[in-house]
Order: sequence, then C-alpha cells, then structure tokens
Amino acid sequence: MGSTVSKRDYYEVLGVERTADAVTLKKAYRKLAMQYHPDRNPDDPEAEAKFREATEAYEVLSDEEKRARYDRYGHAGLGGGVHAGSYESIFEAFGDIFGGGLFGDMFGGGRGRRRGPRAGADLQMELEVDFLEAAKGCTKTVTFERQEPCLECHGSGAKKGTRPVSCDLCGGRGAIMQSAGFFQVQSTCPKCRGQGEVIAEHCPECRGRGRVPRTRECQVRIPEGIDDGMRLRMAGEGEPGERGAPPGDLYCVVRIREHEFFERQDEHVLLEVPITFTQAALGAEIEVPTIDGKEILKVKKGTQSGALITMKGKGIKNLRTGRRGNQIVRVAVEVPRKLTKKQEELLRKLAETEEVNVSPQRKTFFEKLKSYFEG
Ligand SMILES: [Zn+2]
Ligand SMILES: [Zn+2]
Repeated sequence: MGSTVSKRDYYEVLGVERTADAVTLKKAYRKLAMQYHPDRNPDDPEAEAKFREATEAYEVLSDEEKRARYDRYGHAGLGGGVHAGSYESIFEAFGDIFGGGLFGDMFGGGRGRRRGPRAGADLQMELEVDFLEAAKGCTKTVTFERQEPCLECHGSGAKKGTRPVSCDLCGGRGAIMQSAGFFQVQSTCPKCRGQGEVIAEHCPECRGRGRVPRTRECQVRIPEGIDDGMRLRMAGEGEPGERGAPPGDLYCVVRIREHEFFERQDEHVLLEVPITFTQAALGAEIEVPTIDGKEILKVKKGTQSGALITMKGKGIKNLRTGRRGNQIVRVAVEVPRKLTKKQEELLRKLAETEEVNVSPQRKTFFEKLKSYFEG
C-alpha cells in the first residue's frame, strides 16, 4: 500500500450513495467492520486490507469537514491542512457505532482494548458457612476455576519449540502508517494488535490463547459477625490481566447455613426454649446454648409463655460498631400432655387452691365478662 496505489472511491468502499446520511454511513461501515475485522479473520491479509480501507473511508466520510473536501477534491483534497485522525479516535467512533459493549462481546475485546492491555476480569462465587463460623469468624479454603497462563507455551500461545514471529503487517513495530496522498494515519496494527508479534503455529494445549482454565485454591478469612449476603473481596484473585495489566478480583458472597437452634436478626441471636409449666411458675435456672457455649438462663417466678428474656452481650459482633448484640430467648411454656396418676393428684390439689390465689388479670377479666353477659 502507499500513495502510489490508486485509491478506491470512499463511497464505493462503503457501498453507499454520495448522498448517504450519517446513519447510513454508520450502518454500512459497521457491516464491513464486522465482516473484515482482523479478530474474525486471523491471518487473512485481504480481510485486513478491506478492514483498513473501510475504516479509512468511514473516518473521512463521518467527518463533515473532511467529507466536504473529499466531495470537492477527491483523495487529493485530504492532503495538507487536514488534521488526520488517529486510530485511537477511530476506535472512539467504534464505541459510538457499536454501542460500547457490542464490539467487546463480538470480539472478546471490549473495555480497555482501545487503551492498552486490559485488566483481568473479576470473578464471583458463593461461599457457604455455618452459623457459628459466621458469628465467630473463621478461615475457609475456597476452590474455583480461573484462567491461568498456559504452562505448555508459558502464555505465549505459540506451539512448543516455535516462537511468535515478527508481524509482517507492521514489521514488528506494532503500528502501521497508512497514507492516502498526503494524508497519513498512524494506527495500531490490526493484525498483531500492537504487539509486533504474531503466532505462526498455535500451542495445541491452549489453542493459541496463552491461557487455560485451572483450579485454584485460596484462603478466605471470614470476619467475625459477617452476615448472609455480604461480599468479601479477594484482591487480585480474579482472572489475570493482559500483558502485565492488573488481575481482576475474586468476590465471595457469603451464605450462612441454618442452625438447629439459633436464628439471626442483625447482630442479635434469637432462640426458643421450651420450659415446663412448673419452671415457669416457680422460676428456674436452665442451661441454654449461646454462640460462646453453654450458659445458665434465669427464668423468673411467674414467667408467661412467649416471654422474651434478653441475655445481654451474648449476640453477634456488629461489623461496624464492633459491639456485640444480645441473645433473646423466647420461652414456650409447655402444658403437660400426659400425666401420671401421682401428677394428676397433685394438680387436682393445686386446682382446689386456685380460687384462693386469683391473679389480678383473671379477676378483672371475669368481672368484665359478668357485666357483659348481664349487659
Ligand atoms: Zn503488526
Ligand atoms: Zn499454550
């Protein structure tokens, strides 16, 4: 290529009428770019040439001022005083045309491909922990798969014993100069994408990608008090970046398994404990579990069924304040379903005394009821 080669008409290159509007130009260019993009046509110089040609044509025709000059003077009109856009700005135009993501989705490029090596992708996984592990903190080993450099080719993508060869399109410089008369554009080489080297024979292990999925283990420290749904970030444990770019991060979303006894309400631990009717009436000291182990719970005389008893500071550490919540015990008073003969006798004796010791609540209720019936 060069100024000596006669250049095709830009409208002809894009296959549009001379009166085509901006939308039509975009559409036409987009179609060609999709068809001839080097990523989709590896090692095809003809496709590369077509891609470059279309890009150049679009670069000119999409610029009002350049298009006007071109319309009047043809290719010669673009020499001299016209400021030639860089490939960078052409890729900016790509972004507009393809709505950002599309190009990335199609060619695996996307974010950052216009601006040097791409940072590695983030990974996310779920991490199940036991109730107590979350409440007290722990360290877990997680196993996940991520892309790592291929050991066979050491990440080069080239078959063992071969080396990437200097790119013939750019002569190993990673950039190409395109000239159209006096019009010169320096652009990132589309064949080697600026690396100056291309792979002649692909590594069979990674099929030239230079990376392979590998299972990785890492230790995750679960801080005391973590709650269900919280995310832990493991910096740098994501996918590796391209050519020295930083790796992504690994995010672990914590899922807490249900516990046999405990339930959680923020930093408080909820627990239901059945007690007997005599324990409720007479008061008692009963053993209950806490996240620290066994503790004695004092049940006061005359405790009602459903009463809540707070055990202060026996809850879970609040991650923000560092203070522990409470354990709240709900007591459920059991009415005996079966009685031995002896128990029944005792209860009947108790019943005989009940009229003597009527609670104020019952007294009030029956008084109200009496006047209700008498109305
Ligand atoms: Zn090149
Ligand atoms: Zn390989």
